[in-house]
Amino acid sequence: MTTSAIVWFRRDLRLTDHPALHAAAASYASVLPLFIHAPDEDGDWAAGAAGRWWLHQSLASLQAALRRQHVDLHIGRGESLSVLREIIRRTGATAVYWNRLYEPASIARDSYIKKALRADGIEVHSFNAALWWEPWEIATRQEQPYRVFTPFWRQARTLLHPEKPLEAPASLHTVRLEGSLGLQQLELLPRVAWDSGLREAWTPGEAGAQAMLELFSDDALNGYAEGRDLPARHGTSRLSPHLHFGEISPRQIYASLHAQAQRRDTRRRPDLEPFLRELGWREFAHHLLYHFPRTPKVNFNPAFDRFTWARRSPTQLRRWQQGRTGIPLVDAGMRELWHTGWMHNRVRMIVASFLTKNLRQHWHHGARWFWDTLVDADLANNTLGWQWVAGCGADAAPYFRVFNPVSQARKFDPEGRYLRRWLPELAAVSDEALFEPWKEPGLLKRTGYPAPMVDLGASREAALGAYRAMR
Ligand code: FAD
Repeated sequence: MTTSAIVWFRRDLRLTDHPALHAAAASYASVLPLFIHAPDEDGDWAAGAAGRWWLHQSLASLQAALRRQHVDLHIGRGESLSVLREIIRRTGATAVYWNRLYEPASIARDSYIKKALRADGIEVHSFNAALWWEPWEIATRQEQPYRVFTPFWRQARTLLHPEKPLEAPASLHTVRLEGSLGLQQLELLPRVAWDSGLREAWTPGEAGAQAMLELFSDDALNGYAEGRDLPARHGTSRLSPHLHFGEISPRQIYASLHAQAQRRDTRRRPDLEPFLRELGWREFAHHLLYHFPRTPKVNFNPAFDRFTWARRSPTQLRRWQQGRTGIPLVDAGMRELWHTGWMHNRVRMIVASFLTKNLRQHWHHGARWFWDTLVDADLANNTLGWQWVAGCGADAAPYFRVFNPVSQARKFDPEGRYLRRWLPELAAVSDEALFEPWKEPGLLKRTGYPAPMVDLGASREAALGAYRAMR
């Protein structure tokens, strides 16, 4: 009898630099690639609508890549442990391989499954495929987690060296197994087709991730330090959803960019550091979520438990979600999000500041909306982002730093290209009116663009008053 192992794919939807697949293929005559749809096991954070859309496309891409090697991806549904046991029984597999996830619910589930399978006499091997460092590997001198990014990064950066990613297995042998579900049966795609913008904007899957990396390294990486702040430009990598679904690893990204930089002559060599630092924030976010697993719900800084948020206002939230606040940069960002499932980082900060400060709605409401609409919705990064802007997070922006969306637009979108792209009703107005359309008499009536839902100055003062009262 040939020996066989199961490779349990989760959010590592690629074949290259896949430690679990690599190790299983090296040790076993045949491997069965398996995906289990078990949204209930993600607790409160099962993938939202945009994430499910991406997952469908990414699984389709993985299926196609495996088929080129004459291997099928077996798809199951239900409680993961039961599905694994059933497949072990039917295939005679003696080992299960997977790459680790770091959300609290995943850690709890995986530890339980590891124990149960080992008690059944099955070998279990898990690997790090998603991060440069395990979240517990970086620690202060006192063996404590970091709470501030700069010292975290200082230490982490000294440990970072370009490493060669693992090759995809040259050939795979598999166990034939009937009874896989079809991808459609997972019902990940929306019933009402709202996803045309997503389809235009993205190519989920490993090949799409590699193409995005190439585009970035050929083009935007050179001017990243300045370009990353300009939402009208394709000035950032847009790798976030690919990273979230594990279609590419940070190790692959670093190895590839480093090698390319070395090939260029020294004068034209891009400065990689600002970009690596952003990936460092991703590592920091995972470090924080691992050590402070309640932070998706609980303020990192407990002083904020006393903060008086405004009462939840469904009307205000709806206007914010729909990009009808009357503040151009906020609306442009929210419409970009709705249309493409992604929003530029600077604009994320501005829309989040507007919600949590000018409207004083709790950051939870914003984090939830992002969770449902972002293709890159990621518990570690989203929690860090919202707590950072709201002022209650680790190493957060101070609460009194209230972004002014008008001056931010003037500074980072001076020609109004981003605003005009997402606010077609304002496309033809003058540059001056574009930033503060309520100031030009008759413009709102003529264009149908809404009046601002709050006065930016007065709402800022009210927020600062609430902050002072908290302290
Ligand atoms: P690049 O600038 O090309 O950066 C490369 C990679 O570094 C990104 O793909 C991402 O993985 C990581 N990264 C960059 N900035 C950050 C950051 N501030 N924090 C953590 N990682 C970072 N990012 C998500 O991936 N998922 C989220 O759910 C998410 N929610 C956010 C919510 C708010 C309120 C804010 C302010 C930020 C949020 N971010 C989130 C961080 C950031 O906005 C995105 O990672 C970034 O815009 C993705 O675009 P990019 O891939 O082109 O980034």
